Amino acid sequence: MIYCANPKAQYLSYEAEINEGIFKVLNGTQYILGEQVEKLERSFADFIGVSSAIGVANGTDAIEIALRAMGIGNGDKVITVSHSAVATIAGIEATGASAVVIDLEKDFFTMNPDLLNEAFTDEVKAVVAVHIYGQSSQIDKIKDFCSKKGIYLIEDVAQAHGAKFKNSRLGSIGDVGCYSCYPTKNLGAIGDGGLITTNNQDLAERMRMIREYGWKERISTIKGRNSRLDEIQAAVLNVKLDNLDHDNERRANIAKVYDQLNSKLFQTPVRRDGCSHVFHLYVCKTKHRDELISFLNKNDIYPGIHYSKPIHLQPAYLGTIELGSSMTVTETICDEIISLPMYPELPIADARKVAQNIQLFFTNL
Ligand SMILES: *Cc1c(COP(=O)(O)O)cnc(C)c1O
Repeated sequence: MIYCANPKAQYLSYEAEINEGIFKVLNGTQYILGEQVEKLERSFADFIGVSSAIGVANGTDAIEIALRAMGIGNGDKVITVSHSAVATIAGIEATGASAVVIDLEKDFFTMNPDLLNEAFTDEVKAVVAVHIYGQSSQIDKIKDFCSKKGIYLIEDVAQAHGAKFKNSRLGSIGDVGCYSCYPTKNLGAIGDGGLITTNNQDLAERMRMIREYGWKERISTIKGRNSRLDEIQAAVLNVKLDNLDHDNERRANIAKVYDQLNSKLFQTPVRRDGCSHVFHLYVCKTKHRDELISFLNKNDIYPGIHYSKPIHLQPAYLGTIELGSSMTVTETICDEIISLPMYPELPIADARKVAQNIQLFFTNL
């Protein structure tokens, strides 16, 4: 069986160190916001190249807390994309603000910056740019737009831990970077977890307060919530962060095997010039997607689909999300995309088997 992701294999890669980290927590004296979270926040800030990192409970909360710290809520609007995890919009709506979605660049499946202006109104207070699949959105252009309008820029880096735009790590370019550490992510815990990065001292202080009841010296001075990162998850993440660049390289080696599949019938992703890709997902496009998946399943290969429906067309959101542009790219790619098996421990021989089966499928078509 070859699966799309395999977080257990990640644990086994670093089993002894992870076990040691977890036992250290068990035998320690501070089970909440102790030395593991503190160490992770320091090392992650250094790794991304920012002054502060804040551990939170998950990636959805990271987006909500970042927006709240910016004073964004009821009556405000936030521009984002509809081709993402539901978490992106759930995080926005959790603040009381509403999302305005715009369409994608057709080669990269990331936000099309040329559509920002037509979606902009005075109620728009921020943009959430998603670095989907592991590579950067056109963040320089998006940042220019936000600066010109005087609004905040949040990077959703939940799929791109460690990736760079030019020489900067993603999450160090906007006002705030939000990360999920869900088990399958490039930096994955053994449960839920999240991180926020920023160079803005003021926002950092507010986000730190909001994650714990708005406390300042144990008095709630602003309204907050409980979204602390767990010590055990932080212990696991500390081990994995030390190996993140190496694990991302292992993903890139698997991507090289898949890159050779590019054909008229099966398009592999376009890479953004001068940027790195960390292959959270390896997503391809084909008009024969569903038949291909059935064929692969018969051969014990289980690819995924990210995502099979844009957020604004999912039942919970249908008719409730403002469309800031036409959504043609977003709505057409969902029927054609497939995520090939991709995780650092996937044996190259298995990746080759996936590639051979895909070739076989198209030869017999
Ligand atoms: C995983 C993910 C999130 C956040 O997910 P959580 O499950 O809340 O940790 C946000 N945005 C994107 C693009 C994601 O892939």
